[in-house]
Amino acid sequence: MAYKKIDQEDIKFLEKVVGSENLKTRDQIEEDFAHDELKAVFSYPEIHIFVTDKFQIIQIMKYANDNLIPVTVRGSGTGLVGACVAIYGGILLDTTKMNKIIELDKTNMTLRVEPGVLLMEIFEYVEEENLFYAPDPGEKSATIGGNIATNAGGMRAVKYGVTRDWVRGLEIVTPDGQLIVAGGKVVKNCSGYSIKDLIIGSEGTLGIVVEATLKLIPLPKKTVSLLIPFENKEAAISAVPKVMMDHSIPTAVEFLDKQALRFSEEFLGKKIPNADYDSYLLVSYDGNSDNQINDDVEALSDLCVNELGAIDVYLVDTDERKDSVWSARGAFLEAIKASTTEIDECDVVLPRSHITEYLQFTQKVSEELNIRIPYFGHAGDGNLHIYFCKDDLTDEQWKNKIEIGFKKMYDKAFSFGGLVSGEHGIGYAKKAYLKQQVGNKQMNLMIGIKQVFDPNNILNPGKVV
Ligand SMILES: Cc1cc2nc3c(=O)[nH]c(=O)nc-3n(C[C@H](O)[C@H](O)[C@H](O)COP(=O)(O)OP(=O)(O)OC[C@H]3O[C@@H](n4cnc5c(N)ncnc54)[C@H](O)[C@@H]3O)c2cc1C
Repeated sequence: MAYKKIDQEDIKFLEKVVGSENLKTRDQIEEDFAHDELKAVFSYPEIHIFVTDKFQIIQIMKYANDNLIPVTVRGSGTGLVGACVAIYGGILLDTTKMNKIIELDKTNMTLRVEPGVLLMEIFEYVEEENLFYAPDPGEKSATIGGNIATNAGGMRAVKYGVTRDWVRGLEIVTPDGQLIVAGGKVVKNCSGYSIKDLIIGSEGTLGIVVEATLKLIPLPKKTVSLLIPFENKEAAISAVPKVMMDHSIPTAVEFLDKQALRFSEEFLGKKIPNADYDSYLLVSYDGNSDNQINDDVEALSDLCVNELGAIDVYLVDTDERKDSVWSARGAFLEAIKASTTEIDECDVVLPRSHITEYLQFTQKVSEELNIRIPYFGHAGDGNLHIYFCKDDLTDEQWKNKIEIGFKKMYDKAFSFGGLVSGEHGIGYAKKAYLKQQVGNKQMNLMIGIKQVFDPNNILNPGKVV
């Protein structure tokens, strides 16, 4: 696709729409806006604009579509697959100033928000009203627009599902600048193909989310976490199906190992209590009464110690313990990043029954390629985060090992019925593996969908399909 380069006339138009204070030209753009959190994909946009309302987006998209200028939407830039990087230059359309909470509707238990509202702002706002928005991806400074565009998952997916399950309606600007409404405040919707669900997880390639209506539920009154050490990872992972089946559904079942905990301790500069064993499950429950929570804790402790070979069960109950254990878990990615010169990520999701075997395979790949591959994962939903570390490899060695190693990792995952991505998406970095996983027919269906939404291929070109 031959895209138009931004010239003075385009700048004049965009300045008129968003104001000169909301526009940065190429020489004013900071390096942070040429990459996302992982930094594996790097490209500067030609112009960086901050939009403040949906009417500006409508005008910009009409103009960009008429003039064949590529547009890449960006929230907080915390993505990990290069999805918000403007690989063809053009306009970087930043939503972080569209950050209003529009309406809390207590009767319908919904919250209407602009796309640039941060996840942590949503938590704070609804929890003050004793309400709960359950999706809990690790990076709370991500925008809700980014969460919707990536169908973000997170730790509470085991019990509450992912972002998709919490979006009732969307207002979307299409690539040619039309405003459409998909879904709404309704609980059920069987009205034709679900455009809402196509947009969720489409990584900013089909439309721009300009408003979202989110589902809320009453805030659970009690939560508790248990840190459960095991002799080795096989024992920890093979306990997961029983933990899931035996009693109440946990809110989270996370797998942690000694190595990841050490990175976090070093990164955070503090010791985590009871963190000297080989492998752990971190399990949480929520509910509304002490009795219910105590039952859950007792039943899980009995099961783990008496039947599943756990060494002990530690209650993460004081504020200090909660803070140290959950902040260590939350810091894994940052801590692994800080331990090396560069990382690349494999975010596969597998049927839970194959996790142990897959982690053994990962260990084998690490030894064969002589490369460090730390990992952690949402054991409850089979989503693993596996990091290749560059350390002191040359660029050429790194590229070579990544290529061989990722091929092995994805081939193995697919042979177990796994998928390329459980929550971080495809973006630019994982396109080849998506094609391998879904095959030609499904890939062509996806390309067809993209063509229907965006015949000029101006919205986030070069991503996903
Ligand atoms: C420490 C850390 C922990 C993380 N933990 C998790 C986790 O547990 N689970 C998880 O799922 N992810 C996780 N992530 C990844 C990341 O936070 C999510 O992908 C998040 O949803 C990205 O939001 P963002 O606002 O940063 O979006 P960006 O990175 O800016 O953009 C991501 C994609 O969304 C598109 N986009 C953004 N806004 C809009 C919009 N309004 N309309 C249309 N498209 C849009 C962009 O074009 C791009 O394709 C983690 C990241 C980090 C750094």
